[in-house]
Amino acid sequence: MDLRELYQDIILDHGRHPRNFGALSDASHFAHGHNPLCGDKVTIFVKLDGDRIVEARFEGHGCAISTASASLMTEVVKNKTLAEADALFQNFHTKVTGGEQIALPAALEDDGDRLEPLAGVKSYPARVKCATLAWHTFEAAMHAGSIAAAVKTE
Ligand code: ZN
Repeated sequence: MDLRELYQDIILDHGRHPRNFGALSDASHFAHGHNPLCGDKVTIFVKLDGDRIVEARFEGHGCAISTASASLMTEVVKNKTLAEADALFQNFHTKVTGGEQIALPAALEDDGDRLEPLAGVKSYPARVKCATLAWHTFEAAMHAGSIAAAVKTE
């Protein structure tokens, strides 16, 4: 099977059947994100225990890429420390922008591979914001402490 086809299937699957979708009533952190270029809106909910992410969920509506990215993100950050989640974000960011790859620690390589389907957006600069919205919103939630934050990517 052509790898590009496989990756598109994963994006479509997560876009249509997002994982971890719906509000998290006992979230310790959350933030709203908006990508005006495409109209994507997302709210990221996270529950921290110390510096470990014990739960991550999202709500919102947007294109298949933004939804798939949020769905995959909530899967890979769960049970990670904040430092590990940040390493995944830095690596993912270079993947989708076509920048120089930032290597991941060996323990995170499998998770990095799970985000690979979205790397194709680097050929479509207008869609990069769709793929990074959930991650920027996640970062905003973390930096805002336990109060609501908002991020707008443009
Ligand atoms: Zn979009």
